[in-house]
Amino acid sequence: MAMEKNAWCDHKPAWVGRIAVTACDDCGRIDWMSSEGVVDSSEAIAALFGSYDLVGAIDALGAPSPEVLVYAPPSGRKRRHLDTLPRHAWMKAGPHIWLSTDGETLLLSTTQQLMFENLNRGA
Ligand SMILES: [Zn+2]
Repeated sequence: MAMEKNAWCDHKPAWVGRIAVTACDDCGRIDWMSSEGVVDSSEAIAALFGSYDLVGAIDALGAPSPEVLVYAPPSGRKRRHLDTLPRHAWMKAGPHIWLSTDGETLLLSTTQQLMFENLNRGA
């Protein structure tokens, strides 16, 4: 079934700096690549969204975790990084991380409490 889907999915990467983002709404997952190969998800998220400002945490229904962190882009240029993601869909961005966007802010959901606390502190 998954094989069948991948056969017609259009996994065209969008390049942001040296990171190629392939976010597929149908597969619900994100792949991070560079010209050297696969990029670690935490490294890729830091490269794309590391400069974003933490706005707060919200209760989110339908998200993979009960609480979701909200990040805002510091500039219009950085906001365009959100365009690499499909809107209003939870995408699996790493082993314990999901990302979503409405085109204006980044929503981050993780099921690892420790990671949640680290991100919440802005570490
Ligand atoms: Zn796909």
